[in-house]
Amino acid sequence: MRKIDASKEPCSECGGRLERKHITQEFEREGVKVNLSGIAALVCADCGEIYFQPGGADKVAAAANSLFSLAVTEKQHKCSLTAQICQA
Ligand SMILES: [Zn+2]
Repeated sequence: MRKIDASKEPCSECGGRLERKHITQEFEREGVKVNLSGIAALVCADCGEIYFQPGGADKVAAAANSLFSLAVTEKQHKCSLTAQICQA
């Protein structure tokens, strides 16, 4: 998971072409799994490296942290929590 400045840059790992996709990221902490799906990202068509827009990775991490704190508040240990972003 890396940051990238421009969507037109090739993959810094292999030079492959980046495609705009909606991805799913799974996080696990203390037995709680959090799924974020529908996140807009750039994914290398060749090696699968994931790139976010500047600041995007931080926001994804912040969203995951928020879901973890929600899960802890609701005592959802050993369960999973899924957040999905839908486009209107
Ligand atoms: Zn690549």
